[in-house]
Amino acid sequence: MVMKKHKDLLAILRHNNMRITPARRLLLQYILDNQSSGISLRNIYAYMNERLPGIDRSSIYRNLENLKHIEIIQELNLPTVGKQFQYIFDKKVHHYYICKSCGKLNKGNKTLFEKIESALKEVHGFKKANLSVIFYGHCASCSKKKKVLFYCTENLGK
Ligand SMILES: [Zn+2]
Repeated sequence: MVMKKHKDLLAILRHNNMRITPARRLLLQYILDNQSSGISLRNIYAYMNERLPGIDRSSIYRNLENLKHIEIIQELNLPTVGKQFQYIFDKKVHHYYICKSCGKLNKGNKTLFEKIESALKEVHGFKKANLSVIFYGHCASCSKKKKVLFYCTENLGK
């Protein structure tokens, strides 16, 4: 199945006048193999350099930018982890909650997405939304810790 997807994605690249280079082939494979998680630039570089020794870091970065542009991947900026790339091409739901305290990334749930989608349709007449949103905030466990910390400092003041 992944093989088929890889072929489909190569077709998308061709359609966008992007040459199919060994580096692009490899990069797509790595992204497909890691669909379920975000991947860091460091891991991408390590993987690519192992298979294409001496590959230029900036050329990998350029390829990632290209894949971003044609919406095969998206870039996430995680507070404690840094930049991550994630496969989104045939995924409908890709909104996330990112905790600013611990950097934990949570996938948004489908129901919320469907609500937003129908609101877009009602309010703006906008259809077939492919939502790509990142919410920054504080996760439940960090908010709890914060409250405890606040409680302690409050008591110290007395
Ligand atoms: Zn947190």
